[in-house]
Amino acid sequence: MTDILSLDRPARPAARPVALSEMPTLIGLTREEMGKALAEVGVAERQVKMRVSQLWHWLYVRGVSDFDHMTNVSKDMREMLKRHFTIARPEIVDEQISTDGTRKWLLRFPARGAGRPVEIETVYIPEEGRGTLCISSQVGCTLTCSFCHTGTQKLVRNLTAEEILSQLLLARDRLGDFPDRDTPPGTIAPAEGRKVSNVVMMGMGEPLYNFESVKTALLIATDGDGLSLSKRRVTLSTSGIVPEIYRTGAEIGVMLAISLHAVRDDLRDMLVPINKKYPLKDLMDACRAYPGLSNARRITFEYVMLEGVNDSLEDAKELVKLLKGVPAKINLIPFNPWPGTNYQCSQWEQIEKFADFINAAGYASPIRTPRGRDILAACGQLKSESERMRKVDRMAFEAMMIANHGADD
Ligand code: SAH
Ligand code: SF4
Repeated sequence: MTDILSLDRPARPAARPVALSEMPTLIGLTREEMGKALAEVGVAERQVKMRVSQLWHWLYVRGVSDFDHMTNVSKDMREMLKRHFTIARPEIVDEQISTDGTRKWLLRFPARGAGRPVEIETVYIPEEGRGTLCISSQVGCTLTCSFCHTGTQKLVRNLTAEEILSQLLLARDRLGDFPDRDTPPGTIAPAEGRKVSNVVMMGMGEPLYNFESVKTALLIATDGDGLSLSKRRVTLSTSGIVPEIYRTGAEIGVMLAISLHAVRDDLRDMLVPINKKYPLKDLMDACRAYPGLSNARRITFEYVMLEGVNDSLEDAKELVKLLKGVPAKINLIPFNPWPGTNYQCSQWEQIEKFADFINAAGYASPIRTPRGRDILAACGQLKSESERMRKVDRMAFEAMMIANHGADD
């Protein structure tokens, strides 16, 4: 059939300008991915490697979030980059500072090809001589730990590597951890005196169910030519996804925290149901095999104190037995109640007795104390786009993050 050109046919609509928030990001890409992205938009093959190093320095040593601040990159190149990519930070919807110095940011991430936009909270907890940033890996969780409010909420979505890493970039912006813009190119931010000295993957979600993005983000955060966080100061907390614990040891190499909470399979099956799939024996085998363990590099075992459930001295005794041979420290977390839960926090004297028993057996067993209560995040409460989400997430996130400050050196 002959196609007859009709002059009445409306002209093809002009391409819609792409909103900044929908542009592909350069944040959270591995060096290889960044090289590929640059080559795809026309950066000459022979220049790619040099451009990647240049950009890496600007993004992760200098912390710029605007191509125009990359002063040793030619104007033409900057314009080209701007046409194709964004390096913008997420929007800060809210920032609160507690009387004890804890800070909480409510961040909004645009959709950027990863499904719906999401809002998450990131919490910074300053302590004597260090500061810990508590980062989320998912919005919601697919697991259903019975004492955790997040367990009552469906997974909304995994965060991307950009979204995980941006929580750190944004905190460093706000806390003044990047060098001043006027310092000459090549400047390295000293590791000493940084406000964010430690990172814990202990916000919302199960990081090992979002393995690839968490891995990419943490490898960038610990890259010596960039953000340069020491792997010993990054702790990933998991409910016990055994195969990915092995992968974490082999492929990421950060410190490990295990949400243990029970020392017998029958009880752990109830509290942390993933235990049915990966029972204590398998979990402890994975812990024993974790590379690089020593007295200076121990696994943290998190143990929520639930009255009459897991807080007897018999449990403490079993715990010591279970951990035999594993360089370990135990974080006792007073349970944070939420509406509808049947659990109660153990009595303070019981928590102390439990801690004393473990201490006497030679394990450090600090009891975590909530921070930032006056800003209702005593470490963090997720606020989402809908009112329903807002209420549910808030409680869950608050409960979790109250429990979770205090990474280990
Ligand atoms: N999903 C991962 C990372 C979240 S860290 C994990 O489970 O390890 C959150 C920590 O807070 C976990 O140890 C979790 O078990 C604990 N937690 C969850 N709800 C809690 C609550 N209501 N009170 C005290 N600790 C809680
Ligand atoms: Fe998910 Fe961790 Fe809560 Fe369990 S404790 S439901 S794994 S966030």
